[in-house]
Amino acid sequence: MQKNNLIGILGGGQLGRMFTQSAQALGYQVCVLDPASKEQSPAASIANFHICADYTDEQALTHMANVCFAVSTEFENVPASTLEFFNNTGIFTAPNAFAVSIAQNRIQEKLFFSNVGLNAAPFYVINCIEDIYKLNEEIDEDFLPAILKTTQLGYDGKGQISIYNIEHLHAAWQELHQVECILEKKINIHHEISVVLARDRYGNIANYPIGQNIHKNGILFSSTVPSPLTPANIAQKAYQNAKTIAESLNYIGVLCVEFFVLEDESIYVNEIAPRPHNSGHYTQNACITSQFEQQARILANLPLGSTVQHSPVVMLNILGDAWFKHNNEYNEPNWQQILQHAGVQLHLYGKQEARAGRKMGHINCVSDTLKHAQNIAQQVSELL
Ligand code: ADP
Ligand code: MG
Repeated sequence: MQKNNLIGILGGGQLGRMFTQSAQALGYQVCVLDPASKEQSPAASIANFHICADYTDEQALTHMANVCFAVSTEFENVPASTLEFFNNTGIFTAPNAFAVSIAQNRIQEKLFFSNVGLNAAPFYVINCIEDIYKLNEEIDEDFLPAILKTTQLGYDGKGQISIYNIEHLHAAWQELHQVECILEKKINIHHEISVVLARDRYGNIANYPIGQNIHKNGILFSSTVPSPLTPANIAQKAYQNAKTIAESLNYIGVLCVEFFVLEDESIYVNEIAPRPHNSGHYTQNACITSQFEQQARILANLPLGSTVQHSPVVMLNILGDAWFKHNNEYNEPNWQQILQHAGVQLHLYGKQEARAGRKMGHINCVSDTLKHAQNIAQQVSELL
C-alpha cells in the first residue's frame, strides 16, 4: 500500500461504494472506515481496505491518517471532530469540518443561510417542554401546517412529523423522544430542485445541470434533468445561492443544495449535503464526469472534469418495497424485464437484505429526448 495512492472515506453505505468505484477507476485505492462488517457494508465489501471501527476511535483514525493522503466522508453524521482530527494531523479532507458541522444541525444550517442572506422556511426551536407550552400559547395560526424535525440525524424524511394542529405538538415531540427539534413552517412548494456543484481547492466551481426532484414520504423518488419546470431566471438564482453557500463555507468538494421553488418564483434553501447526493446520481450516465468521479478528482488534486450533460435523464430510486410487491412475499424485482428498456442503466448497492424504505439501488433512464426518458421512467416505475 502506498500512501500517495490511498484515499480514505468515512462511512460504508452506497455513497461510499460509488465513490470507491470512481476513485478506483482513476487508479486510486480506497480505505473505508465503517463500524459495520465487510459483508454488511456496500463500500467496504469492494474497497481495497476496510477499517472496522467507530468514527471516534482514535486508534483507527490514526491508522487511517498514517496510510491515506486525503480523507472524505460519505455522510454528514460523522462527528465534525473526526474531520478535525485529520486536519490537525495534516491530512487533507473534503468536505471540511466546518461545513459538516453546519450541515449536521438544522438550527446551525438555517442560521447560516440567514447569515449569508438566503431565504429559508421560518422555524422555532424546541428544546424543552416549556418551549411547547409557549408555542401553544403564542403561535400564530398562519404558521401551521408545520413540520416537527429533529435537529440532528434526520434523513429520508426520518425524524419528521407533520403538525396541523398545535395541540398535537406535544405528542409528536414525545414520539421523537423529546430530542431537540425545530418546528418548521410547511412551504407551499411549486416544485423542488437541487444544485450539485463541485468546488476545487483553488475556488473553481463546476455546476451540474439543475434537476427537478420528486419526493414521496420524504424520500427522493425521482430526479428529472434538465428540470422541466424551472425557468432560466430561477435556475440562475439557485446557482447564485449555491455559490454563495459554497464560498461562505470555504467549501471544497462536491456539494448539493436543495431548494423549494414557490408559485411566485421565489426560492427557499431547504438544506445542504456536504457530499455527492442522491439527486446527483443521474450524473453517472448523463454527464461527462459523474459527481463521484468529481469528488475523487478533488481529493486527488486533479482538475475538475466537465459537468456537461450529454443525455436527458430521469433517475428513479429503487427502494426495498420493490421486493415485496406481490402478496407481500420477498421477491427480487425482475431485472431482466426492467433492462429490456433501451437506455435503462441499473445501479444496485449490493445490500444483502431489502426492507421497506431502504435504498437498494437506482436506475438512470437516459435517452435522446427528455420526453422519451420520461416514458421509459414511467414504464420502469410501474415494474418496481
Ligand atoms: P431530509 O433530511 O430527510 O432530506 P428534508 O428537510 O429535506 O429532510 O425533508 C424531506 C422532504 O420533505 C423535502 O424534500 C420536502 O419534500 C418535504 N419538506 C421538508 N420540509 C418542508 C417544508 N418546510 N415545507 C414543505 N415540504 C417540506
Ligand atoms: Mg432533504
